[in-house]
Amino acid sequence: MARSYKEIMNDITTFIFDIDGVLTDGSVFVTNEGEILRTMNIRDGYALKAAVESGYNVCVISGGSNEGVRVRLRNLGITDIHLGTPDKVETYKEYIELYNIQPEQVMYMGDDIPDYHVMQLVGLPVCPQDASPEIKAISKYISHKKGGKGAAREVIEQVMKVQDKWTLYFDGKLD
Ligand SMILES: [Mg+2]
Repeated sequence: MARSYKEIMNDITTFIFDIDGVLTDGSVFVTNEGEILRTMNIRDGYALKAAVESGYNVCVISGGSNEGVRVRLRNLGITDIHLGTPDKVETYKEYIELYNIQPEQVMYMGDDIPDYHVMQLVGLPVCPQDASPEIKAISKYISHKKGGKGAAREVIEQVMKVQDKWTLYFDGKLD
């Protein structure tokens, strides 16, 4: 019998996130100078930081490149930040090999076609509520929240709760 997503969550040691449409709502704000700005969610950030501090592997793989995003993610304690990635599958394979991670231990959250192939390689492919239909079709869990609006928070919290690692007492710094 196929395992439920809750059962698979017991084995997760590693969270991998796409950025646009997952850690952001997919919108970009373009200034007159052509600079592109994104918004990110503080509650998502809190959960990402909690996961890092609790010893989970946290990795971000994005086709886009934005140095501001890198700074933000570094400040949350994330060290594995892959921006401007042409081939997510290749980056994923290198990452799990480097840390000796098994695919069954990986939760990957993506929202669109560039995530399709890599999501088929992981134990727990998940997506935000507003992901593309193709991605929803291959996800083992669809968040009740949208990308950039708490979807990452929801799945991190669920995994950590299943493993009794979610606690209210982190250092309280949210940014
Ligand atoms: Mg995306």
